[in-house]
This record gives sequence, structure tokens and C-alpha cells, in this order.
Amino acid sequence: MTPKQEQAMPDTLDTTVEILDALVGFETVSGRPTHGIIGYIQDYLAQHDIPSTLSFDEAKERANVFATIGPEIDGGVVLNGHTDVVPVEGQDWSSDPFKLTRKGDRLYGRGSVDMKGFLACVLALVPVFKAAPLTKPIHIAFTFDEETGGLGMPVLLESLSGFAYRPEVVIVGEPTQMKIVTGHKGGYEMRTEIKGQEAHSCDPRQGVSAITAAMKLISKIEEMNAQRAANPVGVLSTARLIPLSMSAR
Ligand SMILES: [Zn+2]
Repeated sequence: MTPKQEQAMPDTLDTTVEILDALVGFETVSGRPTHGIIGYIQDYLAQHDIPSTLSFDEAKERANVFATIGPEIDGGVVLNGHTDVVPVEGQDWSSDPFKLTRKGDRLYGRGSVDMKGFLACVLALVPVFKAAPLTKPIHIAFTFDEETGGLGMPVLLESLSGFAYRPEVVIVGEPTQMKIVTGHKGGYEMRTEIKGQEAHSCDPRQGVSAITAAMKLISKIEEMNAQRAANPVGVLSTARLIPLSMSAR
């Protein structure tokens, strides 16, 4: 950043920490209602004259929030993050996970990095975005239940399908150790059922062992993983097929 650019960026650190403190205080473990945190975000945006829209899960307990700053035209950037966090049960926290705690230069709290930290950075910069002479829009898109399968995003996309304009770029504020990551390997779940044929143990040749068949399938998957590891393709180099569970009958 040039000294001139640095001058143009106001010191938003205090505001960011203040917002993060509020966000961490909402116990938004995936699957729980999001009324509190969404109300806070909507109020904050409204204070800056930014209207926002919500899209809900079926029970209307959890919501995505979407807002646009700048001209409502094609192009621009979406700043995307999720409001939910993973559970804390059974974990050895030395401070209250839902109370932002400062120790030296570090801030502790569930979601302080992944990813309420990003949400706080985005929200703290809203006045800067608003004051900027934007020729393309900045969209804010915060979703629910990312940690349990990205359940909020399809709901958000559906709600945006009626919009006349399309964003150009999405920046997802997931922690990547301050390195830019340009892709994601994604995930896909498949279910395979192998049924055997029972037979008396005196002559197993009369039956078919589901375990033996499954073993061959898992071996094949391992072979494919080895091939993939030997021929890496960009972000897919760490992609793996993982047999998650097996039962035989
Ligand atoms: Zn995350």
C-alpha cells in the first residue's frame, strides 16, 4: 500500500474489534436460530442507511442477510461469510468461548477467526464503502449453517435469482493464513450399498460376503487416491475419496 492509500484508509481496527465482540457474543452454533445476530447486523446496516434483505430456512428460524452498497448494476464484488460457528461442547476452553477475550495481542472466542472476524472487518468498513465513489456495487452476503453443509447458501442463491443484476467476483473470507486461495475442491457424498448372500458357515462358497466385496471397492478407492496424489491438478491435489462408514448385511 502506498502512503497515500494508507492515509485514505481510516483506522477501523477499534470498530472491528467492537463489532467482533458483539458477534462472538451471539451463540450461533450451526442449526440454532439466528435472530439475534441477524438483528444486530441488520440494525448496524440500517444505521448506515443500507437496506438489507433476509432469506430464511423452512422454519424461519435461521436467515441469510444480503445488502448492496453502490449502484445496483451488473459486476462488482460479493463479500461472503457465514454467521454460524462449530460447537464448543467437550472442548477445553480457558475462557468463555462466547465472550471475546483479549490476551496480549490476541483475541479469543469461538468464531473470532472462522469467520466472525471477517464479518467484523466487512461491517467495520461499511462507512468506507458508502463514502467511496463506487462505480460497481459491493454486496454483503452472510449465510447461515455453513459449517454443517453450506445449508444457507442455496437459499441465498434462490432468493437472488430474481435480481436483475449479477455480481462479478466473490471474496469468501474463510481463513487461509492470509494467502489468496483461488479455488476450492468442494465435496460430494455418495452412498454405496453392498448386499451379500447368506449361507451356512459349513460351505461359504454357497454365499457371497458383502465385506469381501466392500473390501475390494475400498481398495479400488485407495488406488484412485494414489493415482490422484501422483498426478496433482491445482487445488485438486489434496482431493481424496474417503470411505466414511461401512456396514455389512
Ligand atoms: Zn468458515
